[in-house]
Amino acid sequence: MSRQLLALVIAFHLLTGAQAQVSARPSPAVSTGAPSDLLDSDEFLRSQLAAPRTRLSDFDEQADALLKQMTLREKVGQMTQFEIGMVTSGKDQDIQIDPAKLEKAVVQYGVGSLLNVKDEALPLPRWRQMISAIQAAAAKTRLKIPVLYGIDSIHGANYIREATLFPQPLGMAATWNPHLMLRGSQVTAAETRAAGIPWNFSPVLDIGRMPLWPRLYETLGEDVHLASVMGVATVRGYEGASLSAPTSVLSTMKHYVGYSFPTSGHDRTPALIPEITMREYFLPTFAAAAAAGSGSVMVNSGEVNGTPGHENRYLLREVLRGELGFQGLVVSDWEDLKKLVNIHRSAASEKDATRSAVLAGVDMSMVPSDYSFADLLLELAEKGEVPVARIDEAVREILRVKFALGLFENPGPPGSPAAVGSKDHRAVALEAARESITLLKNEGGVLPLRKGTRVLVVGPTADSLVPLNNGWTYTWQGGKDYLYPKDRPTIRAAIAAASPTRFIAGSGFEEPGNLKAASEAAASSDVIVACVGENTYTETPGNIDDLTLPESQLRLVEAMIATRKPVVLVLVEGRPRIISRIAEKVTAIVMAYNPGNEGGQAIADVLFGVVNPSGRLPFTYPRHANALLTYDHKSFEDQDTSFGLKGFRPQFEFGAGLSYTSFAYSDLSSSAPTIARDGTLEVTVKVRNAGKIAGKEVVQLYVTDVVASVTPPVRRLRRFAKVALQPGESRSLRFTLGPKDFSHIGTDRKPVIEPGEFVIAIGGVKAPLRIH
Ligand code: BGC
Repeated sequence: MSRQLLALVIAFHLLTGAQAQVSARPSPAVSTGAPSDLLDSDEFLRSQLAAPRTRLSDFDEQADALLKQMTLREKVGQMTQFEIGMVTSGKDQDIQIDPAKLEKAVVQYGVGSLLNVKDEALPLPRWRQMISAIQAAAAKTRLKIPVLYGIDSIHGANYIREATLFPQPLGMAATWNPHLMLRGSQVTAAETRAAGIPWNFSPVLDIGRMPLWPRLYETLGEDVHLASVMGVATVRGYEGASLSAPTSVLSTMKHYVGYSFPTSGHDRTPALIPEITMREYFLPTFAAAAAAGSGSVMVNSGEVNGTPGHENRYLLREVLRGELGFQGLVVSDWEDLKKLVNIHRSAASEKDATRSAVLAGVDMSMVPSDYSFADLLLELAEKGEVPVARIDEAVREILRVKFALGLFENPGPPGSPAAVGSKDHRAVALEAARESITLLKNEGGVLPLRKGTRVLVVGPTADSLVPLNNGWTYTWQGGKDYLYPKDRPTIRAAIAAASPTRFIAGSGFEEPGNLKAASEAAASSDVIVACVGENTYTETPGNIDDLTLPESQLRLVEAMIATRKPVVLVLVEGRPRIISRIAEKVTAIVMAYNPGNEGGQAIADVLFGVVNPSGRLPFTYPRHANALLTYDHKSFEDQDTSFGLKGFRPQFEFGAGLSYTSFAYSDLSSSAPTIARDGTLEVTVKVRNAGKIAGKEVVQLYVTDVVASVTPPVRRLRRFAKVALQPGESRSLRFTLGPKDFSHIGTDRKPVIEPGEFVIAIGGVKAPLRIH
């Protein structure tokens, strides 16, 4: 069979059963009262890229003028970043500025940047006091260059005690609502800057394609388009129209690049990523955020194809600055120059590591706890082993950022700070948590529960805010429960506020608890809500060897199933723990991710139908621990084999999520059956709320390249839009697709569009397309 004929056959196969309809002329634009704020994902992206923003190049002259006055020692100081303990004594709530330490670090060594907490979140006034003291020390230096303070405000300003906490990024991605992501990021920025902290080490743009990886919850999911759109929303929300505004912070694209795909699934272990895959799946989120103006990058702590991120000159210089056009400063990750010596063993000494990292393109080293970097770099520069021109280049980046942030005029906390943790801000977080929650199963319409239903609540995630938040919450690991607010309901408390509830405490993450008591309590209950999942973890401490939900929790749920009462499984987890042993037997499944401090309320609101769920999975939920395919796998991974093996059969598909209403798709049409390679295509589709209550649908448009010279994935998400529909209401959506949506990375590592057959699919309806 010729390649063309084969393509036709496959296209026919893909189209079978679908109501395909192709018209030769453009269909009318959005017809039924679409609000003007209904932008599809691409329109959103373009509006954000066009939005007013600070350009770092506007500060070239100021940076150069200052650079000319600096000594080599001062320059090396600027390239040094210390953790807060280098200028303080004590820890937790007793941390104090240590004047002698501060004098040495900031005045004598002139360090350019400080970061982090030790080890607990502080109240806003304490932060403001500390930052002011640090900047007062910087003002005593010869050139009065302010310190750039950086922090991980990953899901809200999580190191400020009063702050508004949002779902972790994976949950935010599950909202499929970039407007909400933008708004949430604005809140995070304003609350972080209120403390006098102008630099946020967020967003994580590592694509989440390895579910074991303990940082999956920090990602925006497995899909390139969804993560790019949400990543851009985050960057624009943080940086705003002006970086110097008292509500803006500098964003950090991290961790450049390939960190999220360790072969072992363990944090900070090697990844093998072929260049085509790197360009197809790992670089685009960074490219999109760079185009959106993100002003800093943090380097991948791990290694790709044998080269540690911090020594990868090709990726850090040619690709990042050359191809992606990134403008801004490149900061190392924690202690990573030392790790080149003692972990990666790619450098024989810290001096060699310093030389190779700085030459590769690292502008600032997160040292973070000694003076080695500054001393070694000075020595290297004096001996000519690192050219002064390279040091100047790095310092120029750092100074541009400081000028852009307005730190020379206003180094300290803003005079009238944003209202940290205000009612309005918390309302945004509650909305985000509600929109993130994803209903994956609802047999017999057991949900929503009626008020008055007698509920038995069990499970280790039911009665604590800790797992609802996961890591990066008040401390790095998030485990100090006394730091959590007392006035936010847990899942149990929020359910109890809505209906008569019994709670059987005692089941842990690794022990099933009192099964007998729970089973007895079930007898006098109408429904069981089993809250399972994961306890808190961040980075390496979250490494696991088995994705399966711990045995004890499976046993707890099995005991509940045995009572024959309907079991609603609530999953509070940062990655998809395998539940295939219980998934078929429970009546309903609610995926909550890590919804943050408002999550208990949001979950109860979904359970009782106060909110109609509209979250959609931002990753593929695997059925088996070793079947970790993404939705955009290759088609031969999809085949059932003659040996009886099943192909792609995840527990739940990427993009899946139910509603208490139903949506019907029809009238898919495209503007032409054929387009040229550089052509565009208008695709319209009608979506109708076919049920009885209002709801939100995430319209997802996928493109399949039927035949390609680099084996094509079964489909790729190219557009989405979240639409609110009243019962009976329908709306026509129009998407404009262009060359990028039909291209892939070819064998020459460049994007290519190959003529041939394509299929466009939205909500189960499909249309063919031929590109010539
Ligand atoms: C993490 C980074 C984080 C940094 C500073 C590192 O351990 O990998 O994501 O920004 O610490 O807290």
